[in-house]
Amino acid sequence: MFNFKLAAAALLITGVGIMNLSALEKNLAVNEVNTGGKKLVALTFDDGPDDKVFPQLVKVLAENKAKATFFVLGKQIKLFPGLVKKAHDAGNEIAIHTFSHPHMARLDEVSVTKEIDDVQKLVKGETGQEAKVFRAPYGEHSETVWKVLNAKKLPSILGATSVRDWEEGITPEKIKERAFKAKPGHIIICHSWSVNTLAALPEILKEFRDRGYETVTVSELLAAEAAEEKK
Ligand SMILES: [Zn+2]
Repeated sequence: MFNFKLAAAALLITGVGIMNLSALEKNLAVNEVNTGGKKLVALTFDDGPDDKVFPQLVKVLAENKAKATFFVLGKQIKLFPGLVKKAHDAGNEIAIHTFSHPHMARLDEVSVTKEIDDVQKLVKGETGQEAKVFRAPYGEHSETVWKVLNAKKLPSILGATSVRDWEEGITPEKIKERAFKAKPGHIIICHSWSVNTLAALPEILKEFRDRGYETVTVSELLAAEAAEEKK
């Protein structure tokens, strides 16, 4: 099994440019990017769309003129067509989280490919564009998963900050507290079905604004790193 702690440590030590093909070739999931101290963070929401919380997250983001990245599931797009298009049209990034949320490390190459292709087709159908980034369910990778991601040039995105909104007894207060630990360049993991995250979101966006942070999409964050590396 892929060792994320080790990969994260390697990134910290080497300070290697995390994005782009180098990360893929090294089979490294992206946790954060080097923005050169620029106060950018990327809020990400997994597992959507659903017809309850997801549309409200999109609404709150729009009301706050903020953007986020939604790692969506193909099976959910089939259940709730049209919602991904709305999120995309509001300026959010739509990214791949597989078709059916499987344990990817247990799948063979044909199945891994199908899990990605099937959701990519649905995303393209809704947004007119292919998704550019991927997040593995349960953070689970295998050599086969990396092989397929490399072939598709899809960076695998984890996150340096998780609000752990799936925990039992979680509250909006705890979620806010965890979100505010984010530093420049961090990718923050949330779930688009969490009513607690929805409740916390307006204050999270306000607080980041007050601290001088801009919330950007994952691709924008990766582009900020690429620009930083060219300096
Ligand atoms: Zn998930």
